[in-house]
Amino acid sequence: MNPNLVSIVPCETYAPDVCKSALEAVLAPLGGLDWVRPGMRIGIKANLVSGAKPEKAVTTHPALLTALTKLLLARGASVVIGDSPGNLYNASVLNRVYAVSGLLEAEAAGAELNRDFSEKDAFDEHAVQAKRFTYTGWLDDCDALINFCKLKSHGMMSLSAAAKNLFGTIPGTMKPEYHYRFPNPNDFADMIVDLDEHFRPVLHICDAVTAMEGNGPTQGTPKHVGCLIASKSPHCLDVLAATLIGLTPKEVPTIAAAVRRGLCPDTVEGLTVSGDRNAFMQTDFELITNRNSLLFVGGNNVFSRLVRKGMDLCLASKPRVKKRACVGCGRCRDVCPAHTIAIENKKAVIDRRKCIKCFCCQEFCPVGAMRVHRSPVAKLLTHGRRQSK
Ligand code: SF4
Ligand code: SF4
Repeated sequence: MNPNLVSIVPCETYAPDVCKSALEAVLAPLGGLDWVRPGMRIGIKANLVSGAKPEKAVTTHPALLTALTKLLLARGASVVIGDSPGNLYNASVLNRVYAVSGLLEAEAAGAELNRDFSEKDAFDEHAVQAKRFTYTGWLDDCDALINFCKLKSHGMMSLSAAAKNLFGTIPGTMKPEYHYRFPNPNDFADMIVDLDEHFRPVLHICDAVTAMEGNGPTQGTPKHVGCLIASKSPHCLDVLAATLIGLTPKEVPTIAAAVRRGLCPDTVEGLTVSGDRNAFMQTDFELITNRNSLLFVGGNNVFSRLVRKGMDLCLASKPRVKKRACVGCGRCRDVCPAHTIAIENKKAVIDRRKCIKCFCCQEFCPVGAMRVHRSPVAKLLTHGRRQSK
């Protein structure tokens, strides 16, 4: 099969029959589910980054997970759905996430919701960054893995779709440690690609029926896109997903890392697309395109440092607290891997000198008070690019 094949089909709503037909249609060009054998245990790695109602567009929609469960059960397989949210990785947190995110619907349809909270250590000699890492043990009990992601904007990586979803293989509270280990966005992206290569899901499917724009991946705004995307390659899927929402592939560090390794083309023209991608192009998708990866180019001489300083001032996105919205809960302080947030007078305060711009604080603020602040120059560049299209 063509490794650059990506399939895209309309899926206007989350009605059960619409989801079933759209899933069958998007998988057909990729050979459908013919690889599934009776008795196989199939893991579905959903995006359950936090407990949020389906209409908030934070998590993979339960109607799609339910529809996929039914298709797999009909082939005699068993199904387990799992993820590790950015919180404690235990039954109490996960049961709440499952309930709030509507996953009990999939459970009622016959899926098992993962309750194995063991952690395993891995060594991967082929990895570029993550040679040693710890992952969620439930993945070992699956005969095959399907990566079912959600299309969202992302503070650090610009795009949350197929490749980024595999970061959920790292147990919850360890995630900030990985941000601290890989503060350079390009290294962080390489670490994500290492995880994609290590776990190698058989299929990648993206819920782009209602995507998330703006302050993603947890506090953005739902945006109707109306399609499903699927591929055997997470990076090819991401190239198409990025293009749909107005990002160039090089603006997404995980795609750039995959291109460096020869895992995907660097433009959408290099893909073989089944379906009418032009029908789903977004012209006004609110991005939080992050040019912070540019800050890590060059050497360590005086000139390079000056250039980086200038780029930091002009281009870098930074976390910023909306004081009026902040409730002083301290969640951002607790997840910040650089320990650069304090709570003063019941408001979060950031010491910018130590900030590594990982945006964990933005991702896990429960009320959306922590925002990604984009510089006027960076906004202008994105606006200019769109105007010139
Ligand atoms: S997580 Fe959000 S609400 Fe809580 S202290 Fe930080 S900025 Fe304020
Ligand atoms: S302040 Fe936010 S962006 Fe900066 S290091 Fe801490 S969690 Fe990361």
